[in-house]
Amino acid sequence: MAEFKTHAHDVLVIGAGGAGLRAAIEAKTAGADVGLVCKSLLGKAHTVMAEGGMAAAMGHVAPADSWKVHFRDTMVGGKLINNPTMAQLHATEAPDRVRELEAWGAIFDRTPDGRILQRPFGGHTHARLAHVGDRTGLEMIRTLQDRAVALGIQVYMECTVTRLITGADGVRGAFGYWRTTGRPVAFAAKATVLATGGIGRAYTVTSNSWEYSGDGQALAYEAGAELIDMEFVQFHPTGMVWPPGVRGLLVTEAVRGEGGILRNALGERFMWKYLPDDRRTEYAETDEEATRWVTALSRGQDTDARRPPELSTRDNVARAIYTEVKEGRGSPHGGVFLDISYLPAEHVKRKLPSMYEQFKELADVDITTGPMEVGPTTHYMMGGIRVDAATGQTTVPGLFAAGEVAAGLHGANRLGGNSLSDLLVFGARTGAAAAKRARSVDASPYLDPVQVQGATAALAAPLDRSEGEDAYAIQRDLQEMMGRLVGIFRVEADLDEAIGELADLRRRWQVVRAAGGRAYNPGWNLVFELGNLLTVSEAIARSARQRTESRGAHSRLDHPAMDDASWGGQNSTVARAADGSMTVRATPLPTMSDDLRGLLSGAH
Ligand SMILES: Cc1cc2nc3c(=O)[nH]c(=O)nc-3n(C[C@H](O)[C@H](O)[C@H](O)COP(=O)(O)OP(=O)(O)OC[C@H]3O[C@@H](n4cnc5c(N)ncnc54)[C@H](O)[C@@H]3O)c2cc1C
Repeated sequence: MAEFKTHAHDVLVIGAGGAGLRAAIEAKTAGADVGLVCKSLLGKAHTVMAEGGMAAAMGHVAPADSWKVHFRDTMVGGKLINNPTMAQLHATEAPDRVRELEAWGAIFDRTPDGRILQRPFGGHTHARLAHVGDRTGLEMIRTLQDRAVALGIQVYMECTVTRLITGADGVRGAFGYWRTTGRPVAFAAKATVLATGGIGRAYTVTSNSWEYSGDGQALAYEAGAELIDMEFVQFHPTGMVWPPGVRGLLVTEAVRGEGGILRNALGERFMWKYLPDDRRTEYAETDEEATRWVTALSRGQDTDARRPPELSTRDNVARAIYTEVKEGRGSPHGGVFLDISYLPAEHVKRKLPSMYEQFKELADVDITTGPMEVGPTTHYMMGGIRVDAATGQTTVPGLFAAGEVAAGLHGANRLGGNSLSDLLVFGARTGAAAAKRARSVDASPYLDPVQVQGATAALAAPLDRSEGEDAYAIQRDLQEMMGRLVGIFRVEADLDEAIGELADLRRRWQVVRAAGGRAYNPGWNLVFELGNLLTVSEAIARSARQRTESRGAHSRLDHPAMDDASWGGQNSTVARAADGSMTVRATPLPTMSDDLRGLLSGAH
């Protein structure tokens, strides 16, 4: 067996994005000895890419806002299959978590009277997103990182975890390797927190970075945890479509939040015709009312005008754009036009500096003088590891999860801005619960040598093979297949075909070969990420097949309506390992208190 070192901690946090950092800070503050592992450099997590802001009902721009309205918006956006307790905790605690971030040094954009400025986003009744221009994630990660370092949290960078080590009492730690050298490393921990983010790399067109390979979901699944609602993949309506090298790169919803107008090739403002009938009254009646709303917004004022149709929920806008393109009214490069150039150039540059630079640098388009071309891109995973609402505890003892890797808060569709606040609220709660669990465990857990040996052998296998495909070819085929068969619109025959193709892809993956050595070898690193992508893709395809209705981000052409009669009482799909294969079944939602139910009266 290759030589390796074992590091012991009370709490091991895997993932150093917003959720992982916030969990680590809370656990450390509660007195735990914390180790924080990330597979890239500290500060490079996905959170740093977040642009538009974090949702919290502080009421600085819209005094009528409250946690109750935020709760209702989140549930309505999630098509009522969110975990209601998570939605309540999120809505009530987000304002304090944002203020805490400010106290730790985050510098937000300001209202004229000096309070944290809030901007509107799709599906939010009020202007609710605390933001820093369109670089909110950068400010968030910088602040959390400074705090984590100041607290003396031990960070292990460029270290990929490939396996959780279990025992009769649950998860006891993790095993992985250093990307720099390829050498193995182990961690013994009394409590382990997964905060590894999403799965976007299962698709070709995505706003996600290379890090989003579903590692945490697959690690948890293999350790016996349950994955819920995996069919709900969010396709963000606005990614870049041109040039090809940046296809999928996010165009923040803040562009629409600041007044961006969507038009098709005929110049039609097409979102008017896609507003769902039951939500129609929440949106402006005319262009004139929408313009009044934008004008008030740009002055930081409240208004009685209703929001523009472009601020419908993401699932709806993505389907609208997809349909416009499919029916032949798309832009030259297969998207639609998003225009903010009717606003003063200085305002656009101040509110959307990254978008201005992104389009200037990458597409040679000046967004202050002309429209952007945009189309849907795989963006966010609503499904993930099943957790207890209050503690982030998974169904496996000793294992916790927070952030995008965990599921429940967002139901069938996440509202923009609700992720960054999710990371803060549930990162903190999970860190506290993990520290508490660690206090209840006496000694540093013993790591089963058989499991460690198996994980070590798995690392070596692709390098030792003298022939076999490389991981890139299999990943390309996987991504192409997922876009073709498990994309925005789904039908049973496609999903069956996808499940069959996934079995073939896994067979190819089992004999994959990596050329070269262990140090800085991305082809070898991809082997393990690809295995995880195959697991989460199977969970997505099987869960999508199981859910015979359309709801939120999951659109079945063969079951186009929301089917509360069949799905009303058993609203989550649950994927888990059983006898070496994956099973998916429906399971009842957590019950909702009458008080919360009252807040949803009339919602559907
Ligand atoms: C371009 C873009 C813009 C966005 N804008 C917004 C926004 O304005 N508002 C909003 O609310 N949401 C936004 N989102 C979504 C939001 O940014 C993410 O959902 C959120 O940042 C996820 O945070 P996280 O802490 O769960 O994961 P991440 O920030 O991705 O962190 C994951 C961490 O896990 C580590 N990791 C992963 N696998 C392993 C492994 N096997 N071993 C060790 N470490 C591992 C990574 O290295 C990383 O440190 C945006 C997303 C994108 C892509």
